[in-house]
Amino acid sequence: MKKTVRVFKFGGASLKDPEAIKNVANILWPYKNEKLVIVVSAMGKATNALETVVEAHAARNGKAFDILNGIKNQHYQIMDSLFDKDDEVYALVNDAFVEVEWVLEEEPHENYDYMYDQIVCIGEVVSSKIVHAYLNKTGLASQWLDARDVILTDDIFREGWVQWDETVERAEAKALPMLDLPGFIITQGFIGSTTENFTTTLGREGSDYTAAIFSYCLDAQDMTIWKDVPGVLTADPRVFENVVKLDRLSYKEAIEMTYYGAKVIHPKTIKPLQNKSIPLYVKSFVNPDGEGTLISDEVDDTYPPMVAVESNQVLLQISTRDFSFVAEHHISYLFNIIAEFRLQVNMMQNSAISFSLCINDVDDKADRFAQRINDKFKVMLDRGLELITVRHYQDELLNNLRRGKIVLLEERIRDATVQMVVKDVPLIRRRQNVAAS
Ligand code: ADP
Ligand code: ASP
Ligand code: MG
Repeated sequence: MKKTVRVFKFGGASLKDPEAIKNVANILWPYKNEKLVIVVSAMGKATNALETVVEAHAARNGKAFDILNGIKNQHYQIMDSLFDKDDEVYALVNDAFVEVEWVLEEEPHENYDYMYDQIVCIGEVVSSKIVHAYLNKTGLASQWLDARDVILTDDIFREGWVQWDETVERAEAKALPMLDLPGFIITQGFIGSTTENFTTTLGREGSDYTAAIFSYCLDAQDMTIWKDVPGVLTADPRVFENVVKLDRLSYKEAIEMTYYGAKVIHPKTIKPLQNKSIPLYVKSFVNPDGEGTLISDEVDDTYPPMVAVESNQVLLQISTRDFSFVAEHHISYLFNIIAEFRLQVNMMQNSAISFSLCINDVDDKADRFAQRINDKFKVMLDRGLELITVRHYQDELLNNLRRGKIVLLEERIRDATVQMVVKDVPLIRRRQNVAAS
């Protein structure tokens, strides 16, 4: 029999320093007597910093230990503000870092993505240990749960796919009994494990998704993600002016926006919630009493125009080497390899002699893909592009967005969405005649 549980997720920004962690505890106080599963990300930008440890270790440039020590010190500084010197949390956090030191003492692993996951996971592990210890210290009883004991993935490192049946079983076996104990459950976002107990990660920014996995498995009453914005806005406030908060959104609308790059929620988050009609609240940790945004089953309303911009896109123009048309069998061949590489295709277009794909330019994936199909296809790559998605567009807004840009690909999907892949117009300056006439 399932219990009434709510799931909260706190991201890096909400845990970036001692004051932020105290603020999280304040947010949690009113829920003291409720059953909460709290999913936390790595603190601040710890994951980015850990990525540089992995890069340094792979490059054997001798800097990996120094970078790791810097990260360790940042965590110790935060702990020094929250705990007495003899608190047992120091030993727990130290033990976690020692595991990474062991990895660094070995030769770099030949599988970069495997090595990445074994190192980068530590950000969430130490963050959850610190938050767990701090909540207990302030009188908010909580249990620490290793998310890797619950979330089972396949063994594609850095992009583990959740094995849902086993994960549900493991959640019922591990997490459900913990709900009978007093206090909250604290666990980590972003990480899972393979059947051989190797740590995997779910893809960058994956902690929102973890919270949705727990919500699904435990039939949560609702889920709340606490962000540095008042809720879901019509566009990223770091990029656009005059954005407004959306009070309510349908799952469908939220899926469309996040899939195409509205960074406020990880794109995989909504579907598990939609499947069980679990409401999702996006709220501000800066103003926790604010109403936020509610994402739920409600019928589609009318929405204002919304814009999502995904940068770091690469356009691949693929044509056959023998100048034949790009026919069905070519496309089927290409799709198989796209699946093998787990490329997220953001846009595609087919003409008689070429097939265009717009994908996220992650690591050297695009080059490896081009290399893989090189014997049959010629591939031209155009990098440094932006994918702009506009929902509920107005022509004036589209014209504004196109200003100063070259549009390489554009598509209208039914009457609600316009997508375009753009690059900046190169600055052409007139040669000045400096010689005095
Ligand atoms: P977390 O701390 O959980 O990792 P993120 O930094 O990933 O949170 O997400 C919050 C950020 O998402 C905001 O600071 C904002 O700049 C950005 N963002 C992008 N698109 C939107 C949008 N449509 N509405 C709100 N925030 C957005
Ligand atoms: N810490 C991970 C990242 O920065 C996961 C997350 O924050 O959601 O990507
Ligand atoms: Mg994030």
